[in-house]
Amino acid sequence: MDTYKLSWENLIGHAATANHLRKSIAEDKFPHAVLFSGEEGTGKRLAAEICAAALLCENPVDGAPCGECESCQLTAAHSHPDFYVVEAEETKTTRNIKIGQIREMQSEASLRPINSARRVVIIDGAELMNNAAANCLLKTIEEPPSQTIFILLTANRSSLLMTIRSRCSTVNFDKLSTAEIRDALISRDVEASEAERLAVIAGGSFGRALKLKDSGGAQLREEALSTLERLARAELKNEDIFAKGAQIAEWSREKFADFLTHIQKLLRDVCFAEVLEPHNPDLAPRLQAIKLPERKIFLMIEAGVEFRRRLKSNANLRLIAEAYLFKLRKIVS
Ligand SMILES: [Zn+2]
Repeated sequence: MDTYKLSWENLIGHAATANHLRKSIAEDKFPHAVLFSGEEGTGKRLAAEICAAALLCENPVDGAPCGECESCQLTAAHSHPDFYVVEAEETKTTRNIKIGQIREMQSEASLRPINSARRVVIIDGAELMNNAAANCLLKTIEEPPSQTIFILLTANRSSLLMTIRSRCSTVNFDKLSTAEIRDALISRDVEASEAERLAVIAGGSFGRALKLKDSGGAQLREEALSTLERLARAELKNEDIFAKGAQIAEWSREKFADFLTHIQKLLRDVCFAEVLEPHNPDLAPRLQAIKLPERKIFLMIEAGVEFRRRLKSNANLRLIAEAYLFKLRKIVS
């Protein structure tokens, strides 16, 4: 890893995309409005910030930020006066970008850049703009203030206004390969076998792999699988369920939600092993040993959906967890 955090060397995978972006910066052909499209955790935001640093840098080298000038330092610290980031505002129930945020950005963007020859605006989660915000942004993109470059990021391109999509050139960020994620984890001092497991579960998202690492992801998946195995073998007794409930009571609701997600994915793998690409290919032999009729698996998946919903209520986590396990056991028996 390069020590300057906004270095192209720190972007995982996407070699061709990075080269293309670097070239367009070096040749001064970077588009006025560009849309980085790809799932969460694939590197869009880092790539956008690297582009911003390179576009604002005093001495860029082949489309890369020098990492040393004042501009590069300020961009990396998110305190460059010509670098502006719009992000979704999150409340308990909603996550969106409001028209007020776009207006505020516009009033800044209408001024001359302060330190650099241009200004860069990143809009992270562009699909989270409500219609008013999107239409407001559209006006600016249609008549761009000549010195401002817009980089929009989206994990869901299809839910962006067509008019916005059509005015941006799109750069796709594909899912990362398991090997890319594994190697990146290893370079961050994750032990090799753990890195391999996390990379498989992460499903192409490095961000997800990091989250899993922090929440003990591989371990959690193992707990989900062993719970399923015991259910399928009719080995889960009342006292086991109460013990599990006590254990889960110590978890955050988010961790229990992840546990539920693991069970759902494992059940899908058991059921659709022949027709769908599995979520957990590394577990195939153990999953094949889980013999449950399809009808019961569907009921178990339905129960998972229902209990995920219950998790959003204020109900006691331990009671939810126990009720869920009793429900699964009833379906299996
Ligand atoms: Zn620089």
